[in-house]
Amino acid sequence: MRKHTSGRFADLHIHTNYSDSTDSPQHVVSLASECGLSAISITDHDTIDGLPEASLAGAEMGVEVIAGVELSSEYGKKDIHILGYFFDLNNSPLVNSLHGMQIARIDRMKKMVNKLSDLGVKDLIYEDVASRLRSDAVGRLHLAQLLVEKKAVPNLQAAFDQYLSEGGSAYFPKFKQTPFEAIKLIKDSGGIAVMAHPMITQRDELIPEMVRSGLDGLEAYYPNCSMEVANFYVGLAAKHGLIVTGGSDAHGKGKTSTYIGKAYVDYASVEEMKVRCGR
Ligand code: AMP
Ligand code: ZN
Ligand code: FE
Ligand code: FE
Repeated sequence: MRKHTSGRFADLHIHTNYSDSTDSPQHVVSLASECGLSAISITDHDTIDGLPEASLAGAEMGVEVIAGVELSSEYGKKDIHILGYFFDLNNSPLVNSLHGMQIARIDRMKKMVNKLSDLGVKDLIYEDVASRLRSDAVGRLHLAQLLVEKKAVPNLQAAFDQYLSEGGSAYFPKFKQTPFEAIKLIKDSGGIAVMAHPMITQRDELIPEMVRSGLDGLEAYYPNCSMEVANFYVGLAAKHGLIVTGGSDAHGKGKTSTYIGKAYVDYASVEEMKVRCGR
């Protein structure tokens, strides 16, 4: 059992169909309301376009919706995801940078589609991938879903194992942004920067330098992760003076291993974040 619960909980890592979940922002908010969450954050990959709809739905349904984003970055050929919260939605460097990331995603997806065609996958066209989402943040999960539908692979995991995982035969990197640059982007727009799912990323050795770049938190509570591992990251957060966060990383039907509310954090963490960024 976790100590010091306020009775109010927040799921701070949720995707929508503005990136690679199948759920609309409205549906996400209604599911959060049903499971009794006080607050959620929408953290789509490299886009904030779903936030206005989510905020409207949150106001209607009495769920606090915190502005969020999950920024892609790379270090030593390894994907590192930085979650941002409470940033200024109109911050020009952030908005411009997200736009650049989306252009890079489109370019990369076209390369992956071409590569798969060269590898013998038939009738694959970029537009069929792009039509699966409501922004330009097109990603590998969209392509994996299409490969399953076309019966080129038996399931999503096979799509990643065979073609799309880092180093796979149809894999292309997105763009060169380091986690330190991603953290700076969030901090310069007035936000809170958190290292997403450190237990999956397994780059703990970078945490001290991320802290020097302004990192504010660690996502210690994550689905399908043991209490022992979560407690390890709670300890690491304490050691570095970081806020502990948590969330489900729900992707609707895009990821059956998790769902909204599967991992969460006490609302006290949200209050700590607000104090830290002066909101
Ligand atoms: P992208 O941002 O296009 O590089 O895609 C990253 C997303 O693809 C992750 O957030 C997951 O949703 C999904 N993903 C990455 N690796 C896997 C995997 N091995 N199995 C299933 N989904 C994956
Ligand atoms: Zn995703
Ligand atoms: Fe992630
Ligand atoms: Fe995520």
